Amino acid sequence: MGFCNIEGCRGTRVLSLFTIMRRTTRGTGLQPGQVALTFDDGPNLEANVTPDLLDVLHQHSVKAGFCIVGQQIARYPDVVRRMSHSGHLLINHTQSHQHPIRQNVVTLLDEIEACDREIGAALGIEDYRSEYFRAPFGIVTIAVRRAVRQLGLKHVLLSHYGWDTRVGPHNFNSVVDLLIANAKKNQGGMFVVHDGSLCPPKIREEDWNRSTENRSWVPAAISRIIRELKQHGLQFVIPGNISTARRARPVAAA
Ligand SMILES: [Zn+2]
Repeated sequence: MGFCNIEGCRGTRVLSLFTIMRRTTRGTGLQPGQVALTFDDGPNLEANVTPDLLDVLHQHSVKAGFCIVGQQIARYPDVVRRMSHSGHLLINHTQSHQHPIRQNVVTLLDEIEACDREIGAALGIEDYRSEYFRAPFGIVTIAVRRAVRQLGLKHVLLSHYGWDTRVGPHNFNSVVDLLIANAKKNQGGMFVVHDGSLCPPKIREEDWNRSTENRSWVPAAISRIIRELKQHGLQFVIPGNISTARRARPVAAA
């Protein structure tokens, strides 16, 4: 058991993914030396983040997993089509990204199926059913486990969380440095970075540039991460067939 630190449920005792991470690569689907990238909460066209990120991945010939949110898919279906056509993995991240602690299995199933309908509409596939899922905030409650089991989903967890949602364009380098160091130290791992922000941008430019909701730094940061880790000899793989994950030394919060 762990403690959720999401605003609004601070101190709530929950079953979090961190409790079921493993310290070895056994069961992760990743071999030592392999890195898998996942991007959460998109697609996002503020500052053209997700299309620019797709450009970067294409330039480096890297396939990633995109944990996409139904409400965002409805706004930017063409970006989801591009993800799919480019060979990236689409991962259901629910319709409206509600915190799982506030949901029962019925509402979770509704959220997952509504997201599937948006993906299906974007791809032009009737009765689309996701194969992969990640719970909002990475929180795995008993209801989440039941919903995943009922729908036969593969739960994509992670081995490294860099707290990238706590930084913006003014201070992201510390998180990127730690992510690179962590991957080198652990010889790979499953990483998450947020290309999406579910909050509206600030009105004043000064506020926006200091906002953690401003994800404009992500594409260039990912380009640097890929370049440095490839130079280090690590191999980038698509994050499929992964049902659990290991926990490496967590990077410090910025
Ligand atoms: Zn999320």
